[in-house]
Amino acid sequence: MAFVTGLVWFDFGWFREQFCIIMCPFGRFQSALMDRHSLAIVYDHHRGEPRKGSPEFGEKKGDCVNCFKCVAVCPTAIDIRRGVQMECIACTACVDACDEVMEKVGKPKGLIRYGSEIELLGKKRFRLRPRVALYSVLVGILAIGFIVALNQRQEVPVTILRAIDTPFRPVKLSDGRDGIVNHFQIVMENHHFSPVQVRIEIPNAPEGLRLISPLKVFDLKSGENQRQHVFVEFPRSLTETLGKIDLPIQLKIDTHNDLESREATFHLVGPTQQDQ
Ligand code: SF4
Ligand code: SF4
Repeated sequence: MAFVTGLVWFDFGWFREQFCIIMCPFGRFQSALMDRHSLAIVYDHHRGEPRKGSPEFGEKKGDCVNCFKCVAVCPTAIDIRRGVQMECIACTACVDACDEVMEKVGKPKGLIRYGSEIELLGKKRFRLRPRVALYSVLVGILAIGFIVALNQRQEVPVTILRAIDTPFRPVKLSDGRDGIVNHFQIVMENHHFSPVQVRIEIPNAPEGLRLISPLKVFDLKSGENQRQHVFVEFPRSLTETLGKIDLPIQLKIDTHNDLESREATFHLVGPTQQDQ
C-alpha cells in the first residue's frame, strides 16, 4: 500500500505529463500508424499565420492572436501550432480553448480542430486507403482471436505443482512394504459466478497407490482461489525398474448440473536401481 501510495504521489505530484511524453506507448503507436490522411488534432496554419506579434504580422493578419491558451491547457505541454506531434494525446482541450478565444475576437471557430494534414494542404482526404484496409483486417483477426480465447477459457483452471521439498520420501506402507511419498500442490481458481464443488481423485490407480489429501471434496466460492496439498503414496516396486512413472491424476470438478472433468498428467518419482 505504501509503495502504491508513493507511486501515485510521485506520478500525479511531480511526474505528470512526463508520463505521456516519455513512457506512454500511445503516441509511439499513433505516429507509427498514421499518415497524412489520418484524422488528428491540427492547427490550421493557413488561417492562423502570420500570428499576432510575429514579424510578418501586418500586411496579412492571421487569426491566431498568440494568446497561448492552447499551450496553457495542453496536459502534455506542447504547442500544437508546430504541427502534429507524438506527445499529443488528442484530448481536444486546445480545441475548446481556441474556440473560446475565436468567439471572443469574432472569428470563426475551428482554428484548431479535428482534421488531417492533407486537408490543410488543400487536397482531398481519402478515407479508404490500403493501410485502413490492412488495419481493419488486423483488428478483425485480433477480435476473432479474442472470441476464440474467451470460448476456450476454463471456468476452473487447475495447476499441479511439485511441492518445494525433497522430490520423494521413503515410508512404510500400512501392509509393511517399502513405499515412497511424493508431495504436490494443486492450485485452483473459480472463475464461475457461483460456487463449485471440486473432487480430487486418481482413477484406475495401480495396486497399492493412495492419494492422501486433507480434503478430497471441497467447495470453491466464486472468485476464490485455493491451494491444496496432496500426497501420493505408492509401493517402492512401482519405480524400482523405471526410475519414474507417468500417472494420470484426474480432478473432477462439479459445477451445478454439468460435470466438468479434467485430466492432468504428472510424474511420480522415486529412487532408481543405482540409488538403492
Ligand atoms: S489535443 Fe490535447 S494533448 Fe493534443 S495538443 Fe491539444 S491539448 Fe495538447
Ligand atoms: S488558443 Fe488559438 S488564438 Fe490562442 S494561441 Fe492558440 S491557436 Fe492562437
